[in-house]
Amino acid sequence: MRLTATSPAGQHRAMRVFISVDMEGISGVTRWADVSASGQDYQRARSWLTADVNAAVQGARRAGATEFVVEENHGVEMLCNVVLDEIDPEVDVVRGLPRGGATTLAGLDGSFDAMFLVGHHAAAGDYPGICAHTISYGEYRVVRCNDRPISEGEIFATIAAALDVPTALITGDDVACARLARFVPGIETACVKRALSHTAGVIIPPARARRAIADAADIAMRRVRAGGFALPVFEPPYAFEIELRKPLGDDARRAFDERFPELTVTGDRTVSWCDDDMHLCYRRAAITSYIATQPDAVRRY
Ligand SMILES: [Zn+2]
Repeated sequence: MRLTATSPAGQHRAMRVFISVDMEGISGVTRWADVSASGQDYQRARSWLTADVNAAVQGARRAGATEFVVEENHGVEMLCNVVLDEIDPEVDVVRGLPRGGATTLAGLDGSFDAMFLVGHHAAAGDYPGICAHTISYGEYRVVRCNDRPISEGEIFATIAAALDVPTALITGDDVACARLARFVPGIETACVKRALSHTAGVIIPPARARRAIADAADIAMRRVRAGGFALPVFEPPYAFEIELRKPLGDDARRAFDERFPELTVTGDRTVSWCDDDMHLCYRRAAITSYIATQPDAVRRY
């Protein structure tokens, strides 16, 4: 355990929290239009998102956390959804694209004491699950790793674990929270809505949800300080298979074969690969939809 709140000399040292924030699991968000730039409540949802992050920061700060990096993970508007005028002024925010070889988690390294997943969502194939998907809304029917569907949160927790950073908190709907709780036993959860389908749920109004998020973040960081979080055990190699919704066209097949041979087309709508590096696997999972749909535009990942 690296973390001590006070050094032997009595000097307080920084206690750092990395927050990955997505939008589909934010309190109040219910339907695809809420997380799309043209939706009636999209601008409002950006404020809800920012307030959920602030709640997590405030709760963690009560437990002694001192430094926060917030990394945006919602793919709309080039991953710029936090309202900078409303975010806690003491955090750093990673936003925009590209991020130098990282699709997301560009700001995560081994210096953090914990990772929080705020506003994360259920996986493609989960039902119910508000706005459930894995990486691509429209293109992926399911993303499997080692023969089972995997969520973005599970991928992120694995990447963090490889850096010795425990995933201490997830906020989102009941399906997303339950999935992560199976993957990261003992993780603190702030369930801000109960899914009834992909686009309906029982919603806790954001003001009340924020209290639950702050309380869960407080407990999470107290447990981190006490060494209370084990890393999830998910050993490589990681065999990924993406099942696309539509069959691959000839141009896409040619692009995979000639320019991305590390990604193997294994069926009329399946692409597979295997690697020990989960972060690299995430980047490949992200680029696959672009190769499938815009093969001539994709250069590298
Ligand atoms: Zn998102």
